[in-house]
Amino acid sequence: MLTKLIAACLVLVAVLPSIASAEAYALRTVVPGDSVGVIAERYHVTVDSVLGANQLESSLIRPGDVLRVPYVAAIGGPLGESVATPPGFRWYSLGRGETLSSVASRFGLGLNALVGANPDISSLDRLPAGYELLVPPSAGLVVRLGEGESVLDLLASYGLDPATFARANGLRSPFDVVPGMLLFLPKVVPTDALARLQKVREAENRYVWPIHGRLTSYFGPRNLGMGTSSFHRGVDIAAPSGTPVGAARGGTVTFAGWSTQGYGNLVRIRHADGSEAWYGHFSSISVSVGQYVNQGDRVGRVGSTGLSTGPHLHFEVHESNGNARDPLAVLP
Ligand SMILES: [Zn+2]
Repeated sequence: MLTKLIAACLVLVAVLPSIASAEAYALRTVVPGDSVGVIAERYHVTVDSVLGANQLESSLIRPGDVLRVPYVAAIGGPLGESVATPPGFRWYSLGRGETLSSVASRFGLGLNALVGANPDISSLDRLPAGYELLVPPSAGLVVRLGEGESVLDLLASYGLDPATFARANGLRSPFDVVPGMLLFLPKVVPTDALARLQKVREAENRYVWPIHGRLTSYFGPRNLGMGTSSFHRGVDIAAPSGTPVGAARGGTVTFAGWSTQGYGNLVRIRHADGSEAWYGHFSSISVSVGQYVNQGDRVGRVGSTGLSTGPHLHFEVHESNGNARDPLAVLP
């Protein structure tokens, strides 16, 4: 038995000097619990091919042995040298007015693919212009290999086979990786990132009251007396003149000035989903067109400008198609 062990080790040692020039092999250090069968299965190659590549007479291996795994043969040929970022990726600087969705469709990708390549982004809808996005060649998840993290364990946790992984990353072997390297896990859906970003989006899309006050007029048809009626496209909230009005939702100011349609001093703010909030009758306006305002930021002060019978805020909510909707349906 002892003789056999020594013999096996000698064979391995004899093989090792030629490994440097070996092509199409992964080097695998045997760890406790490994067997030729286990290794062969992990690389999706046959036991015989592992035995043959190492000129082993038997499948006797020991922890610390270094085996050649004829792995590239299984994935269709030699691959290029390992690179810092997976092949087929490119950086893209987010342009003004561009969204994740528009960038994704520009590159023929789904939104999930873009999220998978950038799983640490803070928002689906509020990335600033100039933000550098990694654009993947296809859907999958990009992860950074942690210090001391086993690439095989990582692949196993995502149910990925090493051959697919190596091919997608332009690696000769799945072990040609170093901590900190960006790794592409093809077809892996970024479920954690998507769940987190969905919560962020819901929070971003929530409205708050722009001011607190008594509702003096509701959304809908309203009788003006003397047989005339009109449709009131928002709600009126009474408050003393000069009361600061906060943005009900964050967004970009698309109009700030005098309205010819009776709103007086009007501010319109467009939100990331294309909807808008309109704030009318201001005594003074605190924002300018093109400015991004966060939820709660002051947009103006309550007044009675335009067609108004007293100090109040006229507040409208428009859907992305332009239709006005009842603000009470979105306010908490
Ligand atoms: Zn009104």
